[in-house]
Amino acid sequence: MANCSKPPRLVLLGKQGAGKGTQAKRLADHYTTVHLSTGDMFRAQAAQGTAFGLEARRYMDAGDLVPDEIVMGVIEECLAPGGPLGDGFVLDGFPRTVPQAVDLDRVLGARPLDLVIDLEVPREIVLDRIAGRRVCVSCQTVYHINMPPSHNWTCDKCGNEVRQRDDDTEEAVERRLQLYERETVPIMDYYRERGLLVVVDGVGEGDEVFERLVKVVNDHVQV
Ligand code: AMP
Repeated sequence: MANCSKPPRLVLLGKQGAGKGTQAKRLADHYTTVHLSTGDMFRAQAAQGTAFGLEARRYMDAGDLVPDEIVMGVIEECLAPGGPLGDGFVLDGFPRTVPQAVDLDRVLGARPLDLVIDLEVPREIVLDRIAGRRVCVSCQTVYHINMPPSHNWTCDKCGNEVRQRDDDTEEAVERRLQLYERETVPIMDYYRERGLLVVVDGVGEGDEVFERLVKVVNDHVQV
């Protein structure tokens, strides 16, 4: 069991549509730590029209991965002492490739990850979830066409527009799932070999999945 008197350092892996984003936010709240989604960060930058955001958007809209060196530059800043992730965190959507995982270990140095969770959901279910997924353009809260916000596709939390993500088209989703198999699945072996990986069943109601996640963290990490 990792000895962790500080907030835990967690990575949540899983296919697009596995519910990582929603569960990572809940875990971060539960353990009073920071949720970092690289996808949310890139979308926010793109919405602000920064040079970095516009470059990232080109890859995202095509369903491609943003190159490792760009991603690592941003992450290193966040993980620097005194940065937003200087203490604990729940990483969501990062690392996405083995080189990113290796680099993350290097940057974390003497205070490594406590646990990596693979949120496992079958492909048919994620395809169905992504087809109906709608997201707040501002705070990124996730809805579904079967569970919309209460008023005319405006976010219940912040009142901004809720709509389909630009990269949730069938073609881009297919590409992202292929990339997940090719680039992200090998990360599981990387973490398994280091004794850090646990697999959690991501099928079921959100509360039920969340309880499973908390149990696994409490069992493996001294929080
Ligand atoms: P997500 O919201 O996690 O599904 O990420 C949306 C898109 O952002 C991905 O399809 C990639 O284009 C890009 N992205 C997010 N995180 C990473 C990462 N760690 N490495 C490379 N590209 C990323």
